[in-house]
Amino acid sequence: MSDPVLVAVAWPYANAEIHVGNLTGSYLPADIFARYNRMRGRQVLMVSGSDAHGTPIMVRADAEKTTPLAVYQRFHQSFLETFQKLGLTYDLFTSTHTKNHFEVSQQIFLALKQNGNLYPDQELQWFSTAQNRFLPDRYVEGTCYICGFTNARSDQCDNCGNLLDPSKLIDPRSKIDGSRPELRETEHYYLDLAKLQTKVQDFLKLRESYWRPNVLRQSLGQIEAEGLRGRPITRDLEWGIPVPLEGWEDKCLYVWFEAVIGYLSAAIEWGSLKGQPDAWKTWWHTNDVRAYYFIGKDNIPFHAIIWPAQLIGAGTAFDELRGEPNPKPLAMPYDVPANEFMNLEGQKISGSRNWAVFALDFMSRYDPDPLRYYLTANMPETRDSDWDWEEFYHRNNDELVATWGNLVNRVLTFAYKNFDGKVPNPGKLEEEDLELMRQVDDGFRTVAGELESVRLRSALSEAMRLATEVNRYLDITAPWSAIKTDRDAAARSIFTAIHAIDSLKILLASFLPHTCERLHTFLGYHRPLFGKQSTSQVGDALGTHTVLTYDTDGASGFWMPSQIEPGRALVQPEPLFKKLEPKIIEEERARLGEFKG
Ligand SMILES: [Zn+2]
Repeated sequence: MSDPVLVAVAWPYANAEIHVGNLTGSYLPADIFARYNRMRGRQVLMVSGSDAHGTPIMVRADAEKTTPLAVYQRFHQSFLETFQKLGLTYDLFTSTHTKNHFEVSQQIFLALKQNGNLYPDQELQWFSTAQNRFLPDRYVEGTCYICGFTNARSDQCDNCGNLLDPSKLIDPRSKIDGSRPELRETEHYYLDLAKLQTKVQDFLKLRESYWRPNVLRQSLGQIEAEGLRGRPITRDLEWGIPVPLEGWEDKCLYVWFEAVIGYLSAAIEWGSLKGQPDAWKTWWHTNDVRAYYFIGKDNIPFHAIIWPAQLIGAGTAFDELRGEPNPKPLAMPYDVPANEFMNLEGQKISGSRNWAVFALDFMSRYDPDPLRYYLTANMPETRDSDWDWEEFYHRNNDELVATWGNLVNRVLTFAYKNFDGKVPNPGKLEEEDLELMRQVDDGFRTVAGELESVRLRSALSEAMRLATEVNRYLDITAPWSAIKTDRDAAARSIFTAIHAIDSLKILLASFLPHTCERLHTFLGYHRPLFGKQSTSQVGDALGTHTVLTYDTDGASGFWMPSQIEPGRALVQPEPLFKKLEPKIIEEERARLGEFKG
């Protein structure tokens, strides 16, 4: 179980603010999983970055009369702020607009070509005669030829989720001026998915027993039903990574083709920033690495079919092109635990209509851990879920505050006041005390079992069930009244409760890192549970980019039942959570549709 763990997180597209649906879909589950694995003492690398290229950013830059670079940089900064405030512990959060990513993407392209997995072909592409240019992907919208949705993008339909053949789009219109484009021939490189199909199927079949059904349906199921055909992976665009072939410099790699390569390039960049240029191989060359890809369901085809095909197709040629003395193939995904969507008050979240709860705006009024709690308790792991302000209010007050926060505060305040600010000496423990300890200790097995299978909702609910057991134990032993007549009995049950709280702190820490770290200090510990996040500027031939990094600072291996000893000095506790006023429900609902992100 000590194999290296790669936590590969969806790359946020840098043309919109991050909302709660994005968080619960991929970024938050990834962080919970990474924190848990670090607590297990495993070698974790969690990477992602801003997806900086492609037509949506160009369309937005046109509309704002600015450059794609400026658009990407603005949203990149807001992502960095969001992730720091919420405590998402990326070992590296970088960007696709870096020299390193350009090189690695071009090397993957050339490796695929060298292995005969790319071919050039003519395709029909929408062309604007008014602007004398091709209009790939989101430059064109129209009616989906599969489901009839009238606002489909030419490359993918947001309604049915299918990847589209742009030339088949019905009633196409240019996003720039609304005019009707015409089809013209252009030459592009195609990824030969038909040739790679058998190997991709074999890869998927090996994972059939444990992948989520929705992911299998959109990968193996789709291949078995329809088979795979070659897909163009270059575009007639100037904003992006140039195709590394003579005579092709005015075309770019397709944004989806290169963005997924970011999982690899970010690992390489992380190593070089650390001054360990070969460190990435721990997560990319080892047979027993477990690589988890945390994504939303709209990205399944790219992560469960196309990225695996790119990795298989590149083979050892990637290493060969980099001059590695001992070329090896790249590690394949172990799991792609894609989440469904979160809606908002019964309607689909829409950033552009301001029907969204934006992460930064939320955290200007609330603490991060209640957000993490609600988004985990409500995580769309198997079906779509719904953000409901009334439910948020109840889960905060009735669960986080009533079940967990009050338990901690009551017990620690009582110990602090009545036992000289120390963990009391319990004397000989009785059966009821030992029984509670056994139950909570067993949580290290049951909660871990859920976390190992990326069932985070159920892991959190199991940990909270154990907190309820501690409350039940205190209702029975009632140290608050026992202290007046039987001080030893009160000491025994307070010691037992502190022991349980100290264990629950570990079981809950990956979900509620900020408050568990505070609790850790109330319990008198000096070595922190978690490391530190920071940002820095990195310069390269393309300019500078800001990266977010995480220094574990030796914080690792905490996953074990409490060893807390009698006599340990406590720190005066404070409440971990705030009780919310019922009026926030109406206030927040009134904000929806009004807030300008
Ligand atoms: Zn459709």
